[in-house]
Amino acid sequence: MRFSGFRVIKEAFTGHKGWGPLWRDPAPKPEYDFVIIGGGGHGLATAYYLAKTFGRSRVAVLEKGWLGSGNIGRNTTIIRSNYLLPGNEPFYEFSMKLWENLEQETNFNSMVSQRGIINLIHTDAQRDAYRRRGNAMILAGADAELLSPDELRKKVPFLNYDNARFPIKGGLLQKRAGTARHDGVAWGYARGADTHGVDIIQNCEVTGMRIKSGKILGVETTRGYIAAGKVGVAVAGNSSRVMHMAGMRLPIESHVLQAFVSEGLKPVIPGVITFGAGHFYVSQSDKGGLVFGGDIDGYNSYAQRGNLPVVEDVLEGGMALMPMIGRARLLRSWGGIMDMSMDGSPIIDRTSIDGLYFNGGWCYGGFKATPASGYAFAHLLATDRSHETARAYRFDRFARGYPIDEKGVGAQPNLH
Ligand SMILES: Cc1cc2nc3c(=O)[nH]c(=O)nc-3n(C[C@H](O)[C@H](O)[C@H](O)COP(=O)(O)OP(=O)(O)OC[C@H]3O[C@@H](n4cnc5c(N)ncnc54)[C@H](O)[C@@H]3O)c2cc1C
Repeated sequence: MRFSGFRVIKEAFTGHKGWGPLWRDPAPKPEYDFVIIGGGGHGLATAYYLAKTFGRSRVAVLEKGWLGSGNIGRNTTIIRSNYLLPGNEPFYEFSMKLWENLEQETNFNSMVSQRGIINLIHTDAQRDAYRRRGNAMILAGADAELLSPDELRKKVPFLNYDNARFPIKGGLLQKRAGTARHDGVAWGYARGADTHGVDIIQNCEVTGMRIKSGKILGVETTRGYIAAGKVGVAVAGNSSRVMHMAGMRLPIESHVLQAFVSEGLKPVIPGVITFGAGHFYVSQSDKGGLVFGGDIDGYNSYAQRGNLPVVEDVLEGGMALMPMIGRARLLRSWGGIMDMSMDGSPIIDRTSIDGLYFNGGWCYGGFKATPASGYAFAHLLATDRSHETARAYRFDRFARGYPIDEKGVGAQPNLH
């Protein structure tokens, strides 16, 4: 079933009775060539590109809950490619390009909206750092503009320019950045994967891995044993738990990150704005709610909910930046489990076990990476070679002393 304007009009005349389910609900088969563990954005995108672009069949995605129950349905929907380091920037720019064509690719309205992101500058040193970052972005084919205080004031007049503890001295703008409807992304990839023959199996938790003589044979699940030629793990916040089943310890900790939505307001925030003197980022959804977030909760947890001190901390950041936010009522908040790596950058790599591949360590930033992560992981699974933009995302970078420490805070996941 393809979506089109014509189809919508036709259905309007026939009581909308012709829409079918977006994907099948198949029973697991005893064996697949490729099993992807985790039906989040990355797992679904991987299955989609594996089947569509790399022409592989006999692919299954195993999801312990329902599609969208993890971080793909919990994030603040920001997409951008404003990174500094050579290991990261080409990968995120590749992702940005895939975002720009995603709705045509999947024939699904994922509401990709390139409304821009502004990183605010509060000190002279920060301006130097952002100028350097902007230049790195341009060198990697992305777009970047340095905004003067006057240019910024015209774009976002409601910020606290005159009486601020951290004066605002400009901003780094990426116009092609923006937001996307997060669960629409999961549904689009799921429908596309299903159309290309992928079995998406929900309520199917992987509980163990069968490994013999250093090779993976298949996975134990709550719906029985499933044999697999290759197994790809893309379980985000549950990475350590699942890889523990293969006897592996990862350079990853799980932390809670919360998100917040205010009551609906008239359009006020034109794009995404990030505070440069604390941790706070905000955009406005098409329904009018301000969508914002800040720091992780700061302790290890597998609970998909947060605690009150961080609510206070995030709202303080919001008030420092734009005091008018104090007039809005908070409607909802929720938490997701972040797979925080030791250098803040992800891992897409083979493991020491033959046939077992890993994708994780996405920290705060995995939503924007969804298309490129799926593509690069599918590339690795299909060809056994890293995609050219993901070559730096290997396990051995920690042992070799080549971390991709974008923030320069060292091996402290709580600070990335
Ligand atoms: C509050 C919040 C805000 C965020 N904001 C942004 C943002 O603005 N921009 C951005 O780029 N990123 C953001 N992120 C990060 C981003 O959401 C994640 O990095 C990304 O979604 C992780 O990849 P995923 O979609 O595959 O994860 P998930 O959706 O979590 O998918 C993993 C899936 O694996 C399943 N699973 C786990 N264990 C098993 C098992 N044993 N068997 C079978 N299935 C299993 C889970 O149920 C889950 O559905 C945010 C995250 C949170 C929590």
